[in-house]
Amino acid sequence: MDNKEQKKCIHCQTTMEIGFKIDHGKSGFWHLLWFRGPAVGRLQGGIKLKGLEKYEVVTYGCPSCGYLADFVDFDSKRQL
Ligand SMILES: [Zn+2]
Repeated sequence: MDNKEQKKCIHCQTTMEIGFKIDHGKSGFWHLLWFRGPAVGRLQGGIKLKGLEKYEVVTYGCPSCGYLADFVDFDSKRQL
């Protein structure tokens, strides 16, 4: 994703600032990810990830109203 790309807030039209969200669990923190295609399986039983394309999520935040907008970074593609 082009980091110079400017995104405008859909609520107040302020220029949004790039950032990212992290999630955390017992083993630490990690970048949010997006997988192409529907989830196969269940969260508790284990979703099948092998063979899927994995991307990082970029989140823009509005410094005026606080709105957050997630975008997939298609340049971060990795195959599991
Ligand atoms: Zn806003």
